[in-house]
Amino acid sequence: MNISNLLSRHARKYPHNIAVISMGHETTYQALDEEANRLANVLREAHITKGDKVAIYMPNVREFTALYFAIQRVGAIVVPVNAKLGTSELEYVLSHSDAKALFVHELLMEQAKKVQFKGLKVKTGKEMADWKSYGELVERANNDEVRCDLVEDDDSTLLYTSGTTGNPKGVLLTNRNVLTVSHMMAIEMEVKPESRLLIMMPLTHSAPLNLFFVTAVLVGATAVLTPTFTPDLFIDTVETYRTTHFFGAPVAYLLTASNEKIQTADLSSMKYWVYGGAPLSKQEVTYIQNRFQTDRLVCVYGLTEAGPSGTILHAEEHVEKPGSIGRRAPFGTEIRIVNKDNEDVAPGEVGEILLYGEGNMKEYYKNPEETSKVFIDGWVRSGDLARMDEDGYFYIVDRKKDVIISGGVNIYPKEIEDVVVQHPDIFETAVIGVPHPVWGETVKVIYASKADLPEQELRSFLQDKLAAFKIPKIYKQVEALPRNASGKILKQQLREEQPNASVGE
Ligand code: ATP
Repeated sequence: MNISNLLSRHARKYPHNIAVISMGHETTYQALDEEANRLANVLREAHITKGDKVAIYMPNVREFTALYFAIQRVGAIVVPVNAKLGTSELEYVLSHSDAKALFVHELLMEQAKKVQFKGLKVKTGKEMADWKSYGELVERANNDEVRCDLVEDDDSTLLYTSGTTGNPKGVLLTNRNVLTVSHMMAIEMEVKPESRLLIMMPLTHSAPLNLFFVTAVLVGATAVLTPTFTPDLFIDTVETYRTTHFFGAPVAYLLTASNEKIQTADLSSMKYWVYGGAPLSKQEVTYIQNRFQTDRLVCVYGLTEAGPSGTILHAEEHVEKPGSIGRRAPFGTEIRIVNKDNEDVAPGEVGEILLYGEGNMKEYYKNPEETSKVFIDGWVRSGDLARMDEDGYFYIVDRKKDVIISGGVNIYPKEIEDVVVQHPDIFETAVIGVPHPVWGETVKVIYASKADLPEQELRSFLQDKLAAFKIPKIYKQVEALPRNASGKILKQQLREEQPNASVGE
């Protein structure tokens, strides 16, 4: 079994079903399969073969999806590069991954033109200098069937993590990894051939790609793609295409919930609203449920290194277990919480989440040092601190590297953030530790509010809600917090903005 054959199988079974809707254009399974096949012939002619890497630098468009299958059809490995990355980051990924070919969307040519790259260079739109035209290549290519002979343990995708914890690392996933998490998703979210999965988050990330796009093709459903995200576009796309499933980072839900259109929108086609990638507080979940008028919100927790797989909190479970990330995924993944000595902790105690299973990556590409650090006896260390309750539900406490140690005491920023966002004017916040000459670290809060909110006012709001040592000492009001393409707050950037605190702070 391999990923590429999912498409050819459905091209035979449901030739006229719509595989992809992108830019208002519908592509059937048959047409997408043919495009992938022609592209596979193009790659073959360029001598791209098993184990080679091919980079795709495109937003969510049809060409991305055809390439995804074509590359694997010749046995090569897909290297998706986030459209938000600039020239230097693109160059880093191309050189680190040893890519043999690069496919670029014309909207990204400004950045791509500047790259130093010796392999095959293809762009959408017209041919240009040493860049070949995607459309012309596909049109001229022959359509002889290219059969994919990859097996489960062969490599499929090389996904570069967003680098919120340092330099991007290439997570190498096999066919088995991807097929495991997409099967799990299909079952858990009841994805059927008539489902329409809305994908607005970049396909260069593991959740939109493996949990949504591959799952759609696995069952013969439709993937509805948009190249960007705005709350207006989100609401319009759900209404126009009557989509049934959506995956978004918490920030996508929060931004849309505060958009006026949500009150009159017809969202009745939606069966599952899936969120994950970052935490949502209990209050935020309730706010989203009210504004979206839905009880179909589902939380998924996972990380790229695990496929992604991890835990699921189903819609019904939100009532009993608000704030939880759910229980372990139904198959494919085991989960434990361990202390510093890698011993399981008792329910209620905080430890690090470890994940084990068929979703776990093969390795960090060309990075044995980081690979050996992240694996322990085949389990992936998540870097997330959590506790489990008596019923087996998990609660994220914080990311290990974000914990603040002040005067020798551990302070979890998430606990403070959850209280700060209860202020009616605050719509996003981040709490970080700043190195302090006496205390080791001190607590700083950065917040964005609808109206001007002076430090003193926020301080008194927090006064009776948090223990004194958790009340931030440094306050900074901003218009918006910096986020990466998958909606995560860039805490490292915030830390760099204030490298030190003074004694008085
Ligand atoms: P890097 O590894 O470079 O920091 P990244 O954080 O973007 O990149 P991902 O694999 O995209 O890597 O994110 C995984 C992390 O996202 C998890 O370890 C966890 O901290 C966080 N996360 C994912 N889902 C949830 C969730 N439902 N609730 C809280 N946090 C989550």
